[in-house]
Amino acid sequence: PRLANQIAAGEVVERPASVVKELIENSLDAGATRIDIEVEQGGLKLIRVRDNGRGVAKSDLSLALARHATSKVYSLDELEALVSLGFRGEALASVASVSRLNFTSKPASQADAWQVQSQGRDMLTEVTPAAHTDGTSVEVRDLFFNTPARRKFLRTEKTEFSHLEEVIKRQALSRFDVGFSLRHNNRTIHALRPALTITEQQRRIAALLNPDFMLNSILIETERAGLKMTGWVGLPTFSRSSADMQYFFVNGRVVRDRVIAHAVKQAYRDVLFHGRQPCFVLFLELDSLGVDVNVHPTKHEVRFRDQRLVHDFLFSQLHRALAEVRPQLGAE
Ligand code: ADP
Ligand code: MG
Repeated sequence: PRLANQIAAGEVVERPASVVKELIENSLDAGATRIDIEVEQGGLKLIRVRDNGRGVAKSDLSLALARHATSKVYSLDELEALVSLGFRGEALASVASVSRLNFTSKPASQADAWQVQSQGRDMLTEVTPAAHTDGTSVEVRDLFFNTPARRKFLRTEKTEFSHLEEVIKRQALSRFDVGFSLRHNNRTIHALRPALTITEQQRRIAALLNPDFMLNSILIETERAGLKMTGWVGLPTFSRSSADMQYFFVNGRVVRDRVIAHAVKQAYRDVLFHGRQPCFVLFLELDSLGVDVNVHPTKHEVRFRDQRLVHDFLFSQLHRALAEVRPQLGAE
């Protein structure tokens, strides 16, 4: 079964960033309200994700690292929602099979914390006592130490870290209610408290992306026929260094989609006569029946049941919002 895990790992675990994504998703699934991420050498040497979620009982610890051992019980609706988030029930086993992994946990109902470890294909079935407050820490060291072929595909520390940070940006943007911190080589990169008010959310976005973006963007809050959009669109006065500040979330999941990109760009061009790629952080909520987010679990694709409806909604709402501010911009 461990060999099967390594094969599966090739699909789930591409690089440190994909490990971090799976670990954070597990913390969120466990109801964590605070997630602390610590990384060394771009995640190549160490990834540690600590949360204050519900934890895993001592008796279930070794199961957590075993394949298809998911202990979560779901209703059919929840299951469908989870499938859309890339639910596979084997992420942890896959990561464990290609790293040295420590899993430490303490549910609130349990007096002490316990730990299990694995080294590549060897799982140390022994459960040992550990020190930990309520919640879970997963420590992943030496990713791909036992799969040199995969290790060769890894890039420099800097590149791997930037992928990893991008994953955290997306998670932190999609879950304002959760606190996140990120440390790299003992340096604090992000320290984000839960952001419940719009002001706090703007502060989080400024910290994660670019402070100037908040000063040069408009807030969108609009709803029509079961479609709801909130978020921020950058104005032409926002000059960024990075060409790629386009974050679009559909029902909490980050997506890249041509229909969306086209609608935003079109509204921008029509109102502001500006052909440049706009920057945005936008959240679209719609009935889950109206969208299939399970096209590919890792590729961030969606398929809207009614593409036209979604396109027209985005276009018309953005068009209106931008038209309202155009006079102040003295648009050319
Ligand atoms: P899945 O998340 O799809 O169930 P994983 O392999 O990612 O599969 O995780 C296996 C199991 O380990 C989870 O179902 C959960 O019971 C447990 N687990 C993993 N990480 C955590 C965590 N941070 N907090 C609580 N339980 C966890
Ligand atoms: Mg998981």
